Amino acid sequence: MNKTFKMTSWVLWLAGVLACLAVPAQAIVFRGLGLNEVMASYGFGMPSEYGKSAVYRSRSATVIFEADSRRIVVNGLSVYLNRSVLKGAGNWVISPVDAVDTIGAMLLPSRALRKESYALVVLDPGHGGADPGANGGASREEKQYTLDIAKRVRARLRDNGIRVMMTRDRDQTMSLDERCWRSDKFGADVFLSIHFNASRDRLISGVETYIVPAPGYPTTAEAERHVVASRTRNCPGNKHDGANSVLAQYLQKGLLSHTGSMDRGIRRARFYVIRNANCPASLVECGFLSNSREMSKIAEAAYRDRVAEGITRGLLTYLSRVRTQHLPPVKSM
Ligand SMILES: [Zn+2]
Repeated sequence: MNKTFKMTSWVLWLAGVLACLAVPAQAIVFRGLGLNEVMASYGFGMPSEYGKSAVYRSRSATVIFEADSRRIVVNGLSVYLNRSVLKGAGNWVISPVDAVDTIGAMLLPSRALRKESYALVVLDPGHGGADPGANGGASREEKQYTLDIAKRVRARLRDNGIRVMMTRDRDQTMSLDERCWRSDKFGADVFLSIHFNASRDRLISGVETYIVPAPGYPTTAEAERHVVASRTRNCPGNKHDGANSVLAQYLQKGLLSHTGSMDRGIRRARFYVIRNANCPASLVECGFLSNSREMSKIAEAAYRDRVAEGITRGLLTYLSRVRTQHLPPVKSM
């Protein structure tokens, strides 16, 4: 190594250090992937619009990103990423975890489902007994509707030859821990917690499907600037991040198409029952009891039938995807 080369490499090193110091802290922490390259790997060409939003189209799918936003639209469904896509010059940047476990899983489910099984569905009707859940007024309690929906879904799944268990099948008080314990004891391959929503803003209506955020990433209710440092905890539910995205996609799609309700998106929260699930897991919020229009629909058995049908279609699509994508271990009946 001659003296000139030594000098050149030293200058390059110094230039590199100075360049790093000049980059905002967020960009150093966020080691993202180029969005164009990620989308190209899933068969998409360059985006057709590239201003405030980037629209990627392939022969079978459309994905829309918004600049500096977690919200994307995958084939018409609203989905919240673990991390906002960052708008850069010429190319945007996406977190590797979203590239694989969110977008990759939704566009190409087979990879995400390879290790999953499909023998048993566990339904978890939210609340019960001393815990009524949200209240839609006039003794319209969430706990009765969650149980009603779960029973309707169970009947439909059984009609389709699917094994189903429920964490509770009557009006009983049950801790979150016991719900998880029961699900594990049954040997759940898919876990679905069923809820209804409420908000102080009585104008809000629509359905939401929740999955856990990736380790270290915020929930959709949290501010992103607090990301990285504090929440690096890996919970059991994170073993199935890719499959969770696939499951949520089919559930939300089923709910929307059968109820005609507003799409409030596939969101992220560390709810106890889904973060501690030892299988792909999701929590559906099937409508707002605090919205008088939605509440009056939910009070009708015919509408609850449609909610149940939507959930059932979502679960059946997920199960058939798992069945066709891998050879499951034999489970005793
Ligand atoms: Zn609830």
